[in-house]
Amino acid sequence: MINRWLIFFACMLTGGSLGAWSPYRYGVATGLVTSAVVWLAIDSFYVSRMLRWLRGEQNSDVPSAIAQPVPRMPGVWGETLDRVRRLLKERDHQYQESQARLDEFLAAIQASPSGVVLLDAQGRIEWCNQMATQHFGFDAQRDMLQHIANLVRQPVFNAYMSANEFSHDVVIPGSSSTPARPVKLSVHVHAYGKNRKLLLSRDITALELAETMRRDFVANVSHEIRTPLTVLSGFIETLQTLPLKEPDRTRYLALMAQQSARMQTLVNDLLTLSRLEGSPLPGSIDWMTTRALLAQCEQDAHGLSTVLAARSHRIEFENGPACELAGVQSEVYSAMSNLVTNAIRYTPDAGLIRVSWKLLQGGRGEFTVSDSGPGIAPEHLPRLTERFYRVDRSRSRETGGTGLGLAIVKHVAQRHGAELHIKSQLGQGSCFSITFPAVRVRQVLKADFLENSCALHPTAVPEN
Ligand code: ADP
Repeated sequence: MINRWLIFFACMLTGGSLGAWSPYRYGVATGLVTSAVVWLAIDSFYVSRMLRWLRGEQNSDVPSAIAQPVPRMPGVWGETLDRVRRLLKERDHQYQESQARLDEFLAAIQASPSGVVLLDAQGRIEWCNQMATQHFGFDAQRDMLQHIANLVRQPVFNAYMSANEFSHDVVIPGSSSTPARPVKLSVHVHAYGKNRKLLLSRDITALELAETMRRDFVANVSHEIRTPLTVLSGFIETLQTLPLKEPDRTRYLALMAQQSARMQTLVNDLLTLSRLEGSPLPGSIDWMTTRALLAQCEQDAHGLSTVLAARSHRIEFENGPACELAGVQSEVYSAMSNLVTNAIRYTPDAGLIRVSWKLLQGGRGEFTVSDSGPGIAPEHLPRLTERFYRVDRSRSRETGGTGLGLAIVKHVAQRHGAELHIKSQLGQGSCFSITFPAVRVRQVLKADFLENSCALHPTAVPEN
């Protein structure tokens, strides 16, 4: 600043000295005034350049960068401009940094599996993430600053918002919910800042479904166990209170044994299912021969047919090419045996049951059980593998069914990467098949080796 004063005085001195040399009367005064005017003109020129540059920066469309070249100026103006430029640069840097942080933060909220909506003090949408647009059917651009109550019109949600009590969540149907495919959302509002609100939404359809299934499952198991238990306790009471004759006692004890066997089968099936759900997926190290599996199933089929049918069924087994399957032997056997025993149980006396193994294109293998039984109406087919789902309740119970057989088959198939296919028509019999993927099937060329191997144990067949 001292420099500036010195230059100013030097200017005035020069102007005054030049004026003193002039022949005119007021030469000194004229010189001084002229110097001051020139000084002011030069100063104004620099001020206007600086102002023009600053205005240009203020009106620039690029807020985060210095848009125009910085004018060069001497002395104090140059320094002022340089300091302003540095300040602006620092501001730009901070702006860019906070913008990048905000972008990262928003990207993180976008990636959230929950819907996030920011509401202002009036309940208008300030921002929402992609998931919230899906949950509520918002349009991220069009619906900005719209009042949320105008867009989410569920009475239960509006009551929740107007009660202004957000200690709990509220469950409402999602925007894509239909009677056939209901979608349930859990919505929870959290107040923050000056009367602002953060709304979080979560799709709980699967959770609710699992909870309903769990409740149904417990109800079904209790029902299945209660019936034989009631019968058993009835007989026990009779045996305890009445002096029964020997034939009656024997008959009652036989019926009691039947009921307890029924409970045992049920508990065994439940344990099988829980084991299937809890154990790791089967690897591809243990191989079992299809012939041994089919031989065991054939034995079971004949045994059961003799017990159940007055006139035995016609049972045909087609072993197909000698193959090996990779997986858990007890599981695969249980799945195959379930299909075979179902065919025997649901096919009337003397009916035909065909069981076969064949190789499909691409190296896949198919195990098929078809019967000439009553068939199944199409509306039941999609539900057959549900736990405790039965088409013919009385036939199932009469023949010792638990309603869990096909659920076990489906589980085993899924665990082995196989598919269960069911084809059936009322009055035309049924056909159940399990298709194993090529990676779990290998054809065994040494057929005679397998011919001798009928035991249900994993066999290590040397491959050529
Ligand atoms: P269940 O122990 O009752 O047989 P499953 O899960 O094995 O239970 O079968 C479910 C239902 O599918 C059965 O109750 C029965 O109504 C029907 N079903 C299964 N296999 C056959 C079949 N081969 N023929 C006709 N109906 C069948």
